[in-house]
Amino acid sequence: MNHTSKHSPIHVIGGGLAGSEAAWQIAQAGVPAILHEMRGVRGTDAHKTDGLAELVCSNSFRSDDATANAVGVIHAEMRLAGSLIMACADRHQVPAGGALAVDRDGFSDAVTAKIAGHPLITVLREEVTGLPPAEWDQAIIATGPLTAPGLAEAIRAETGEDALAFFDAIAPIVHRDSIDMDICWFQSRYDKVGPGGTGKDYINCPLDEEQYNAFIDALIAGDAVGFKEWEGTPYFDGCLPIEVMAERGRETLRHGPMKPMGLTNAHNPAVKAYAVVQLRQDNALGTLYNMVGFQTKLKYGAQGDIFRMIPGLANAEFARLGGLHRNTYIHSPVLLDPTLQLKSRPGLRFAGQITGCEGYVESASIGLLAGRFAAAARKGEAANPPPPTTALGALLGHITGGHLVSDDEPGKRSFQPMNINFGLFPELEPGSIVKPEGIKRFRGKDKTIMKRQLIALRALADCKDWLASA
Ligand SMILES: Cc1cc2nc3c(=O)[nH]c(=O)nc-3n(C[C@H](O)[C@H](O)[C@H](O)COP(=O)(O)OP(=O)(O)OC[C@H]3O[C@@H](n4cnc5c(N)ncnc54)[C@H](O)[C@@H]3O)c2cc1C
Repeated sequence: MNHTSKHSPIHVIGGGLAGSEAAWQIAQAGVPAILHEMRGVRGTDAHKTDGLAELVCSNSFRSDDATANAVGVIHAEMRLAGSLIMACADRHQVPAGGALAVDRDGFSDAVTAKIAGHPLITVLREEVTGLPPAEWDQAIIATGPLTAPGLAEAIRAETGEDALAFFDAIAPIVHRDSIDMDICWFQSRYDKVGPGGTGKDYINCPLDEEQYNAFIDALIAGDAVGFKEWEGTPYFDGCLPIEVMAERGRETLRHGPMKPMGLTNAHNPAVKAYAVVQLRQDNALGTLYNMVGFQTKLKYGAQGDIFRMIPGLANAEFARLGGLHRNTYIHSPVLLDPTLQLKSRPGLRFAGQITGCEGYVESASIGLLAGRFAAAARKGEAANPPPPTTALGALLGHITGGHLVSDDEPGKRSFQPMNINFGLFPELEPGSIVKPEGIKRFRGKDKTIMKRQLIALRALADCKDWLASA
C-alpha cells in the first residue's frame, strides 16, 4: 500500500475469484484493503500457480447472453458494478460461441497486476491459520472450496459442528413449472403436517414395476464421474449416491428414497405406486424443487437422460444437476445476515464459494457484494443490498435466507451450493406474459423464453437503479 487513507484497512483472506473482486471493490470505494493469499507459501490440491484468481478447471465463465440467460445477466450486472473480474475476463476473452471463455493465464496475470498496482491494496503472501483477530474488525473470509485446514477448523469451532460441510452431496434441483402435475401430485408422506407444513408439501412422481426396473437398469449402466485422488471417497451411509444404492440391490432404492409408503396417487387412488420419487420445495419462492435423496456422481448428460425417465419429469428442466465432490462451505442461510456478515461476529463477512454459491462468476459476484458492504461499514454508511429482482440480489437472497432450511429431517442440512438461475428470481407480475401480436402459435416453450427475457430486462433495469442509488 503506497497511499494514505483516513480509513483503517479491511482484511480479505483468500486471493481467488471472490477475494480479488472484494479487495478491488473495497479499494475502489476509497478504503484500503489487505489481501492475504497463502499460495506462494502453501498450495492447494487444485491450484497450479501463485496467480490471483486462478481458474482451477474450465476456462469458461459460461453464457454471456444477458437477454435470456441468468449467468449472462449476472455478467452484465457485474460489469455495471465495475467488476475487476469481468473487466479482466473481457480483456482476455478467447472464442467460445455464446460463452465467455478466457485465456486463463492472461486473465489471472491481469487480475494479479491490477491488484498489485492499486495504491490502496496490499497483498500479503501468508496462510491465515485462525479466525481474524479482534483488531481486524472488518474482515472477509473468501478462502473457497479448498480452505486450508487450520482456518476451516477455526470456522467450524465458531459456527458449530454441523455448520461447515466438506463435501457437496447435491441432489438435482428442478424448475417447478417443468414438472407435469397431470402425472404428479402434492402430498406429504402419511399426510403429515409437521411443524411448518400443510400435509401436501412434496411433489410425488409414481413409478410402476416396469418403470422402476427400467430406471434401476439405467442407473446401474449410467456413466459416473470418479473422485480425484485427493478428494478421497466421502461415502457415508446417510449420503450414498443413488447409483451406488442401486448397485447394492435392485430393491434398495424402493426401501430408501423411492419408498412408496404413505402416499396415494391423487390421479389414480386405486392403484398403489410401486415406487415414488419425491421432490421437496427448495426456495422460499416455491419455484425450485429438489429430488429428495437423489445425490449422484452420474455424469451430467446421463443424469438428464435418466431422470427424465421418471414419470412427470419427461420435460424437467434442471436448475442444477446432482454431484458429490470436495467443497468447504458454511450453512449460510442460518449463519449470515443479509449483508453476508456472520451473525455471531459482526464485522466478519464471508464471500465466494464458501458461502454456498457455486461457480467462478457467482463466487466473484458475492465477493463484489461483500467488498461493497464492508467498505460501506468502514465508511459509516448503511449497506445497500441489491434488490431481489436483480441477479446479484437473487443469488444473495438465496444464500442469506431464500433457501428453505429443512426441519423435517433432523440433523440433515438441505442447503446445497447453487449457481445463479432463473428459479432464484421473484415471479413476474401476473399478466406479464402475453402472446405477441401476429404470432400464431404461442406454446409453453415460447412462454418460458419470454418469461426469461422479461426477468432479464427487469433485472438489468433494477440493477441500474440500484447502482444509481448507491
Ligand atoms: C477441483 C475444482 C474444479 C472446479 N471447476 C470449476 C469450473 O470448471 N467452473 C466453475 O465455474 N467453478 C469450478 N469450481 C468451483 C471454483 O472453485 C469456484 O467457482 C471458484 O474458484 C471459487 O472462488 P473462490 O474465490 O470462492 O475460491 P478460490 O478461487 O478457490 O480462492 C480461494 C483462495 O483462498 C486461498 N486460501 C485458502 N485458504 C487460505 C488461508 N487459510 N489463508 C490464506 N489464503 C487461503 C486459496 O489459495 C485460494 O487462492 C471448481 C472447484 C474445484 C475445487
